[in-house]
Amino acid sequence: MGRYDGRVVVITGAAQGIGFGCATRFAEEGASVAVVDLDESAAAAAAERLPLQGEAKAIGVGADVSNTEAAEAAVTRVVEELGGIHVLVNNAGITRDNLLFKMTDEDWDLVMGVHLRGAFLMTRAAQRHFVEQRYGKVLNLSSVSALGNRGQANYSAAKMGVQGFTRTLGIELGPYGINANAIAPGFIATEMTDATARRLKMDVDEFRKLNAEANPVKRVGEPADIAAAAAFLCSDEASYITGQTLYVDGGAKLG
Ligand code: NAP
Repeated sequence: MGRYDGRVVVITGAAQGIGFGCATRFAEEGASVAVVDLDESAAAAAAERLPLQGEAKAIGVGADVSNTEAAEAAVTRVVEELGGIHVLVNNAGITRDNLLFKMTDEDWDLVMGVHLRGAFLMTRAAQRHFVEQRYGKVLNLSSVSALGNRGQANYSAAKMGVQGFTRTLGIELGPYGINANAIAPGFIATEMTDATARRLKMDVDEFRKLNAEANPVKRVGEPADIAAAAAFLCSDEASYITGQTLYVDGGAKLG
């Protein structure tokens, strides 16, 4: 008997990285999973790799979460094909790093569009179902960068915005049996951090090693570290926790 038996979990940006790690964990615990990502074929391929249990199903859905029609259609399709929606994980993300004086309007708008507008659109679409059934869980991905990070004025503002959004969801949706929380990861080994290494013209393994050495627990994070926290925060054991941001960062922000 898994904690997510009979539940439908939707995860955006889940074709790879942290999103795929979360999809894997929810599937292991019995959920049916919708993998939402920009590229439908990548989403479908990821859905096929999930360790589904029993009668659980998985689908891949192609959608740009920053587009109103696409976000609405993604949620509608999940409800139709998987028979409902119980958990929404707003994980899709991009970076467009640059120092402020070099940051373009497009760098700013794209990052706000995916992280903030995307989380807003997907949550607005999902909450209709959550309110009706008096049950739902929203989990948003913030970041330690919310606290400020050189070269990430756009990303940092979006990720702190996610925390404010999460607190407000907690207040507005709590009376309807809906919990909303956020996870703020530190350095997690994914394509996103590998791309940062390449942008800094550093070897990927060397970049990970340097980040591990600088971390109090002396390692980098893995998608499974975030997935473990996600599986707890979206479970019924966490039903008295809402509006919170949990830093899962090996203690990085303590220093
Ligand atoms: P990742 O490996 O780059 O995966 C992000 C996924 O989101 C990709 O599959 C990407 O698709 C998809 N995506 C991008 N824009 C989208 C859109 N408009 N609509 C739908 N999907 C979209 O990143 P990650 O490291 O797993 O990060 C996942 C989340 O955790 C992000 O919100 C990120 O900001 C946050 N986070 C990551 C770290 C870290 O160290 N890795 C730390 C703190 C927070 P494409 O590949 O096609 O672009």
